[in-house]
Amino acid sequence: MNVVSKVSEARKEIAAWKEFHQLSIGFVPTMGFLHEGHLELIKKARTENDKVVVSIFVNPAQFGPNEDYESYPRNLDRDLKLAQEAGADLVFTPDASEMYGPVPAVSLKASARTDVLCGKSRPGHFDGVVTVLTKLFNIIQPARAYFGKKDAQQAAVVKGLVDDLFFPIEIVPVETVREKDGLAKSSRNVYLTDTERQEAPKIYKSLLAGKNLFMEEKLSAEETKEYILSLLNEIQGAEVDYMEVLPYPELIPAAGQSKQMIAAAAVKFSGARLIDNIIWNLEEK
Ligand code: AMP
Repeated sequence: MNVVSKVSEARKEIAAWKEFHQLSIGFVPTMGFLHEGHLELIKKARTENDKVVVSIFVNPAQFGPNEDYESYPRNLDRDLKLAQEAGADLVFTPDASEMYGPVPAVSLKASARTDVLCGKSRPGHFDGVVTVLTKLFNIIQPARAYFGKKDAQQAAVVKGLVDDLFFPIEIVPVETVREKDGLAKSSRNVYLTDTERQEAPKIYKSLLAGKNLFMEEKLSAEETKEYILSLLNEIQGAEVDYMEVLPYPELIPAAGQSKQMIAAAAVKFSGARLIDNIIWNLEEK
């Protein structure tokens, strides 16, 4: 496995793979502090492509002024070991000055699906996401890019990005990897206190309970939202940032044709804001 931090070095390696050997590339963009969720993406990419590229970049453009950019957990040595074990061929670890010049010549704005959930509670977040992914997609030129369903809104926004800008990249969604007690794995889980760690699995349990009542036709979408919200509000030491039940991937309340629904929540503990969701097929009902 090779590790590079300059765009020119990444391009050189990728050009050799693509031009001389016509190899396909699977790409896994991450912010590092890797856990089994990330490793699942890398392993899936490993099975579907000739080469696997992982990027590790805590992207300042997707953090708001009062968010956790500075304190976001980082451990490059450990990440490199895990990425290698999971089957990465190249890890791209640029610093912020490599990815962003002093003044941007263009700016990208995510305009669909961003007025709800994390788009609403983190203004500008998805603009930062689509900007950095456009840069990374142009550097890596993958055939496929892998995204976790844990960040379901991100996966939907990124699909919009590649469709709108005609990137010849298949977006591959990957199931959320959870701890045994149901808590979605997240780099930010290390910032939970012991008591909060005991409470945090209730996020997923609440989503699941709501989904089940919806599936049994006991609750409407609006009632499901209220029911899950009431359960989330019982979690000790937590403040609910948002809770919504919406058609997926549209994320528009009145999207009538949708085949799937999502129940998605963001919950703030003292040192970490956690997100989670459940997506289900309406046809299963
Ligand atoms: P991050 O480093 O948090 O930006 O995440 C990088 C990628 O890993 C994103 O596509 C995430 O959706 C995905 N990811 C994060 N946590 C999980 C998880 N628990 N299960 C599956 N994918 C995940």
